[in-house]
Order: sequence, then structure tokens, then C-alpha cells
Amino acid sequence: MFNFPQSIIALAQTLERGWETYRANGDFDAFVEFTLSLNGLTEHLNRQHLPGLVRACQELENTALSLFADSSMHPVPLDQANGIERKLNIILAELQRNETPAVLARRILDAAEGHCEDTWNRPRRVVLVSRADHPWAGSLGEQLSFFGFTPEYLRWGAQPEDNEPALAFAFIPDREGRAYPPAEIAAIVALRTRFPTSYFYCLAVPSNLQSIVLLQRAGADACVPVGNKVSDVLSRILDLVEMREQEMHRVLVVEDSATAVAHIRRSLSQHGIDSRAINDPRLLLEAAAEYRPDAILMDMYMPFCTGVEVTSALRQIRDYQSLPVIYLSSETDIVQQVEALRLGGDQFLTKPVNPIILASVVKTKIERYREMLYSGQHDSLTGLLNHSTSKEQIERLLQNVGQDGKLVVAMIDIDRFKMVNDTFGHPVGDQVIRSLAWLLRGRLRNSDLVGRYGGEEFIIALPDVELNRAIALLEQVREDFSQLPHTHTQGTLRATFSCGVAALPDYRSVSDLIGAADESLLEAKRKGRNRLVLAPGNEG
Ligand code: GH3
Ligand code: MG
Ligand code: MG
Ligand code: MG
Repeated sequence: MFNFPQSIIALAQTLERGWETYRANGDFDAFVEFTLSLNGLTEHLNRQHLPGLVRACQELENTALSLFADSSMHPVPLDQANGIERKLNIILAELQRNETPAVLARRILDAAEGHCEDTWNRPRRVVLVSRADHPWAGSLGEQLSFFGFTPEYLRWGAQPEDNEPALAFAFIPDREGRAYPPAEIAAIVALRTRFPTSYFYCLAVPSNLQSIVLLQRAGADACVPVGNKVSDVLSRILDLVEMREQEMHRVLVVEDSATAVAHIRRSLSQHGIDSRAINDPRLLLEAAAEYRPDAILMDMYMPFCTGVEVTSALRQIRDYQSLPVIYLSSETDIVQQVEALRLGGDQFLTKPVNPIILASVVKTKIERYREMLYSGQHDSLTGLLNHSTSKEQIERLLQNVGQDGKLVVAMIDIDRFKMVNDTFGHPVGDQVIRSLAWLLRGRLRNSDLVGRYGGEEFIIALPDVELNRAIALLEQVREDFSQLPHTHTQGTLRATFSCGVAALPDYRSVSDLIGAADESLLEAKRKGRNRLVLAPGNEG
């Protein structure tokens, strides 16, 4: 099930109107507007991780951009306009189709049952396409259901009955390590046409460029090389779920000319980028602390000081050492530009800036910056939040729960884990840690926090949930983890964990909550492990 946020529907409507306007008047300006809103829609779809739709939009964008160079080409000839319109209609129809009666009915049902969009039971279908008795389908399906997905099995060449797009399709070729035969490629194409928004994984792809290109053309989003294990496929599917809607890009514009500000902010907003502007560099630190921008667009010449001076001052402050700074200037002197970059800027754009170039530079810089922040906050083995970031974010959760708010904190530690390492080796131990991480990620809501607190220790924070419901969930996860088979060279092993839980209002600060959960965890170990213990005060 996928519900498009209002913003996407609105963008699609703007796009449709933009096209109608252009068809009516044939103006180059109207065509530019249309292309810009198409680009904005692509961005939003990208943020929603809808690769199929993104691909369709990008293809249309390329067609549009090829008609960009020369305004005298407009209005474009009828057959070209019709070609664009055909592509546009496919995209619009696909956006429409995701609001089918079944989706609406499900949403009403969910609302009636008091589920929110983030329920622990959200359906996440993964369709496994293979021949009838392929052993991989069974084991991948089994693992997927352990981690909270609903596997569905489909034969090559068949079509699912359900019209709702599944989260993902995994294609298991009949003959591992060979190029996919034409019949299988055709089956992928047929499914891709019907389900542009699902994520397509092709498994056991031989490492030659030709195979990969052919599968990509058929509609594959990811080619998993031959020789990869079921666990690699699983980890990729889990990453997909983890990629939640990203926050909008935020840009702070430091510019003294009101006209320039209006132009820049308009260009940014057409590309789905949020912005704020200040006209005096002396207000920068306050504005940055409050707005938390992902990038700064900096004018070169302003009253009081130059953009270069502001930037090199900003670089003295730890929090802003790597915040992207993009200069905007009518400066064409290369020596000046190089000097400005040397003193702390990241890029130089000359005014007046082409809106599409501006947006793409800003986005690229922001993506890199966010990736850098991400790797500093996440643990590389499991992809979970690391120790210090977990604590910081629980602090933030606590500040947001309000007066009579609810927050449950749990500490988890795998039982007798040294023995797993000693008996089966460190890599098997690592896989047990990753499996538990995946299980937790798969079972919790997007609004819940899961962090890797130490080696085989995890921390969880569940906001806005009744304590007994949180306990029931954790007990279920504990039970399921104890049943989960972990493979090693001689067979499989099972592992268990112990868990300590503490909640508001009996424990009020983050350190009290963590301390009490930790104490309870020790108690759970003392009582014999593979169990959950509630902190004193919380039991009553
Ligand atoms: P207990 O039930 O009391 O928790 O027993 P335990 O054996 O799990 O004891 P303890 O928590 O003290 O041991 C944790 C072990 O986890 C020690 C360390 O070698 C191992 N470990 C820590 N980080 C990692 C990791 O990233 N990978 C692997 N494979 N092992 C790790
Ligand atoms: Mg100026
Ligand atoms: Mg430990
Ligand atoms: Mg342990």
C-alpha cells in the first residue's frame, strides 16, 4: 500500500495545468515552467523512493531539456508535443492509479481500527518470482516473513492478482549464473509495465556488463550478483524499507538584494527545495542555529562584510565546518573565484544563475553533506544509529513527548554471545548481530528509535505507546528472535537476548531511563536470560 502525500498530488496537478497552458499558448516561458514543475515532481518521487516513476519522469525531463536550448523552436511540432503528452499521461495515470478504491478502503479500515500509517503491522509485500520449486524462493520467503514482510510467490510469466503495487519484486532466474533468457526478460518487462513503482531486484546476475544492461532496460532497479547469499538480498530489501521519506532540503540564502532573493527562492521552491533568506550577514549565526540549513547560498558583496569573510568566519565554528557554502556573484575574475574557494567556499555560481543549474548544484552538495552526516551517525555493521547519536535522539524524543507524554526505553543484550564467537567464529557472530538489528528495524515503527549501543547491545525508544503494548511487542520480538535460525558452516544455531525496560513517568530523564533499563537488563540476566524485566515502579 502506498498513499501519496498531498504534495505529490498537488505537484502532479500543477504539472498537468502547466502542460495545458503550454499547449494553449506555445510559449517558451510556459515550457520552462512545465519542465521546472516536472523536475520538482521527480524530486518528490525520488524522496518517496519510487524508482519506476522517477525513471519515467526523468525520461520525460530529458526529452523536455532537449527542447530547451532554443526558444525559437517553440511551439514544438505537433508530433513532438503529442509524444511528450503521451509520456506525461502515463505518469499522471500511474499517480492516479495508486489511489485505487482498494487503497482507500484499506485506509478507512485502518483508521477505524485505530491504526496509524506507522503501525507495527503495516503490510509489506515482497513478490518472489521463480519456477515452482526453486529452493531459494522458499528460504528467502521464510526469512522475509521472519523480518516482518509478507512474501508472495509468483511463477515466471504469471501476473499477480492484486493490483496494488508490492514493495518489491525479487526475480530468481531458473539457471543461476547464466544470462536471463528472453522469456524471463519479457516477464520482467510485463511486470514493470504494470508496476512502475515497485522495486525490482534481479538475483544471481552474472557479472558481465551486457547482462546488467539488458536487465536494467527491462526495468531492474538492482542486480544482485551471482554468488550473493540470501542474507545479502534481505539486507538490501531492509535498506529499502529503512529509507523513509527524507526531510526537505533546506537552504539559507544570505543576500542583500531583495530582487536577487526573490529570484533565487523562487527557483529553489520550484525544485522542491525549502529556503529562508537573511539580508544581513550579521544575522547568520542566529538564523543558522534556528533553521539548521543543509547549505548556504552566499552573496559576495554585502554591507558590513563580504561573503568570503562571512564564510571563513563560519568555518571557525565546529558545527559549520563542513556545511556547504555556494557563492553567488557576478564576479567573473577567475583569480578572485579561486581565492574565494580557498577561503572556505564549496562552489562558485555566476549571477544570473540558471534555475536548473542552481537547483542541481544545491541538491548535489546537500546529498553529499547528508551522506557524510549519515555515516557519522550510523553504525556500519548494522546501519542502526550509533551510541552517541542514539542518546542525543532519545533526548530529542523526550523533549517532544510533552507533559503527560509516553516514552518507553529498552536495552537489549544478546545472551552468552562470547560463546557464539568462540564456537562459530567472529563472522557468524556479526551475522547474528545484523539479524537482530534487521528484526528490530522490521518490527518497529518509523517513529521508533533503534540504536546499536555497544557490541551486541541495542537501545530502543518507543514514543507515544502504552507500556503494556510496548512490552507485548518486545516479548514478541524476543520470542521470534529465539526461533530465528542463524546459518554457519556446520548448520544453524539459535540465539536469545535479554531485555530491560523503563518508561515515563517513573523515570524522567534520559540518563534515568537508560540507567533503569540497564539495571533491569542485568536483573534479566541474573534471572536466567532470554527474558524481559521491567524497572521497579513501572510494574505497578
Ligand atoms: P551475557 O549473556 O552475560 O551477555 O554473556 P555474553 O557472552 O554475551 O557476555 P558479554 O556481553 O560480556 O560479551 C559480549 C561479547 O560480544 C564480547 C565481544 O567479543 C563480542 N562482541 C562485541 N562486539 C562484537 C561485534 O561487533 N562482532 C562480534 N562478532 N562480536 C562482538
Ligand atoms: Mg550584494
Ligand atoms: Mg554485552
Ligand atoms: Mg551479551
